[in-house]
Amino acid sequence: MSLPKAELHLHIEGTLEPELAFELAARNGVELPYADTDTLRKAYRFEDLQSFLNLYYELMAVLRTERDFEDLANAYLARAAAQGVRHAEIFFDPQAHLARGVEMGTVVEGLGRALEHSQAVHGVSTQLIMCFLRDESAESALETLEAAKPYLDRIVGVGLDSAEVGHPPAKFREVYEAAAAMGLRRVAHAGEEGPPEYIVEALDVLGVERIDHGLRCMESPTLVERLVRDRVPLTLCPLSNVRLRTVDVLGDHPLPAMLDAGLMCTVNSDDPAYFGGYAGDNFEAVRVALGLGEEQLRELARNSFLASFLEHDEGLRARYLAEVDAYEF
Ligand SMILES: [Zn+2]
Repeated sequence: MSLPKAELHLHIEGTLEPELAFELAARNGVELPYADTDTLRKAYRFEDLQSFLNLYYELMAVLRTERDFEDLANAYLARAAAQGVRHAEIFFDPQAHLARGVEMGTVVEGLGRALEHSQAVHGVSTQLIMCFLRDESAESALETLEAAKPYLDRIVGVGLDSAEVGHPPAKFREVYEAAAAMGLRRVAHAGEEGPPEYIVEALDVLGVERIDHGLRCMESPTLVERLVRDRVPLTLCPLSNVRLRTVDVLGDHPLPAMLDAGLMCTVNSDDPAYFGGYAGDNFEAVRVALGLGEEQLRELARNSFLASFLEHDEGLRARYLAEVDAYEF
């Protein structure tokens, strides 16, 4: 669906399509344990978040050079633009690369080469959000923030991702305080597989401005009330929820109930190469499976721009919102 939208929950490493994975593997002399792209695609059947993460980290081995990260970002931006994405706030996972001997500079400079021309080449404005892996230690997160210091002019904020259960937000209090002191915006995954309490902790302890996923807030009426009152944006990823078995089928997704409750929902693709679709595919899927009407779809698109970190250019935000209002289905 080409309805203009911002994508606020997108892991750049999760946009690695099998074809590009094999191309980069050949370029870098990396051996992949799959015969071809079809065999690899068949591995995209996940039981839960962890089974996905295992493959996600395995495939990252093909990303070695600045050019690899540039190609990865350009491939994503082209696909996103074709599906109506006008603004993208892109997550990256530096610890997953640092652990393989790929430096912070290689990742940020490589992504930056694509991002700096994105508006001109793809018609997509961009921001970069650096995520900490929550299944790594708090010390590792602090070291990662330190390593990012020379690149802070290109990073708008920090996030928290990877295996959620057993790694509550409070573990990262110190690094989020340090990030806030550096003027960085703050978001975190919470309430995907973890309980509603993790959402509360992300807000109270980490001071986040948006919750990534957050769908388990629906188990706590007092939390829903708070999220509605404070207009806290939730970056939902419907196709991801089905692939990772957070919901059984898309028709069971709580998105309509969340909109009815007055929550500020947005729709995003998370790791589109792995979960069966980009941002526009997610919009189309919820339209069909959940029977969302034009006004609900328009509300989701408006929310995505309202929740964007576009405070440095309110004129641009206003133009995007006008595009949403003028869109004809
Ligand atoms: Zn995510």
